[in-house]
Amino acid sequence: MQIYNSQTRKKEEFVPLREGKVGMYCCGPTVYDFFHIGNARPFIMFDVLRRYLQYRGYEVTYVQNFTDVDDKMIERAKREGVSVRELGDRFIAEYWKDAGALGVKPADVHPRATEHIPQMIALIQGLIDKGMAYEQAGSVYFSTPDFPEYGKLSGQNLEDLDAGARVSVDEEKRNPLDFALWKAEKPGEPSWDSPWGKGRPGWHIECSAMSMDYLGEAFDIHAGGQDLLFPHHENEVAQSEGFTGHPFVNYWMHNGFLNIDNAKMSKSLGNFFTVRDILKEYEPEDVRMLMLSAHYRSPLNFSRDMMAQAHASLTRLYTAKDRLNALLASAKPDAPGGAGVPEKAKDIRQRFLDGMDNDFNTAEAMGAVFDLAYLANTELDENSGKAAVQAALDTLGELTGVLGLLEREQDAVPAEVREIAQRRAEARKNRDWAQSDALRGELAGMGWLAEDTPQGQKLRRA
Ligand code: AMP
Ligand code: ZN
Repeated sequence: MQIYNSQTRKKEEFVPLREGKVGMYCCGPTVYDFFHIGNARPFIMFDVLRRYLQYRGYEVTYVQNFTDVDDKMIERAKREGVSVRELGDRFIAEYWKDAGALGVKPADVHPRATEHIPQMIALIQGLIDKGMAYEQAGSVYFSTPDFPEYGKLSGQNLEDLDAGARVSVDEEKRNPLDFALWKAEKPGEPSWDSPWGKGRPGWHIECSAMSMDYLGEAFDIHAGGQDLLFPHHENEVAQSEGFTGHPFVNYWMHNGFLNIDNAKMSKSLGNFFTVRDILKEYEPEDVRMLMLSAHYRSPLNFSRDMMAQAHASLTRLYTAKDRLNALLASAKPDAPGGAGVPEKAKDIRQRFLDGMDNDFNTAEAMGAVFDLAYLANTELDENSGKAAVQAALDTLGELTGVLGLLEREQDAVPAEVREIAQRRAEARKNRDWAQSDALRGELAGMGWLAEDTPQGQKLRRA
């Protein structure tokens, strides 16, 4: 299995530290709001990576944190008149709803930053003791010149780093690239006791402390979006390796951005859709399909067209599965048709594995899944033997299971009904009430009631 390692900037054979086991950490959400579908990209892609590693027989320990204290959390909590803790509780609960809907399985551990303050303090103290961090007015900073390899992860040359332009020049820091490990208390902000007085941790130290707490001082895979490579992950390397004196992570993986009109989807640009909003119009698996149809490192442009395409692709797979199930119900064991299918399905499975082994290329792997659907549609029919139909169905279930697709309950809203409901949502958005009513009538004719709620259109059986 080859993985592109951001640290070495090349594809490398994956060799875990301990045979048969994988320790994996992915930077999770800052829980100050609903997450957007750009955030969903790493959650979905690294969920699939974990599933694939498990499918290949590894025992995976997967950790994904919640960042529940930082400037954004504090600001939002103030605005809403709630405590930072309450805000975190609320959006962690919302995370579970959206991630669950998207088929993202819970990690083995979801540590909350605020519940790991002692571990962070121990790390910071260790860095001070080693002369790699210094205190200044109740805050503690990492001293980048004292970690000579600083810049190695993102491949940046320190002299070339235009520190003044890219890093806010803070009076208390000795060097522009130094960063806060501990921030002295400010009035009205949550704080914890520490050897340097009351304060709160910096963002980067959270992930060093939580990952090492659950996975050990060295582990296999650390993942996150490309925007985290510098400075977040660079700083994690500096803190962790500075503290332990040995390598921290063997494989760094970074997903490319989900874009809108070629600009990164982000809260600050305002060009985002929350998962919550998208799921009012589309099936959660459509979102998964969209993400998986691109390699995780490539940029992925989000648009309604892309969603419609993903929806159509998924429908093709569901149709193939439904057809195979119908054929299986009536297939005779000794019917001669489709004799070559089991062998061809095996080849297709191998191509799926080759795609996934090639830096986890889900786009290639997805191609194999569609070849399987095509094979089933063209080579299997009422004259096919039971074993042949079964082989195609099993392989389809096996491969889509790795991707977390085709897991929708079969008695859910049928595709045709969803299609019409989607058109109706579109009509309502365009304030085309006549069209909306006509489509409501069409739905009623099919035995479905469309109700308009503050959360959007809801469907239920008439
Ligand atoms: P945040 O809650 O902002 O810390 O982000 C959570 C995760 O989403 C991180 O791994 C980010 O790198 C990732 N992320 C944020 N925006 C995007 C985007 N537009 N496309 C892909 N990943 C993103
Ligand atoms: Zn992190």
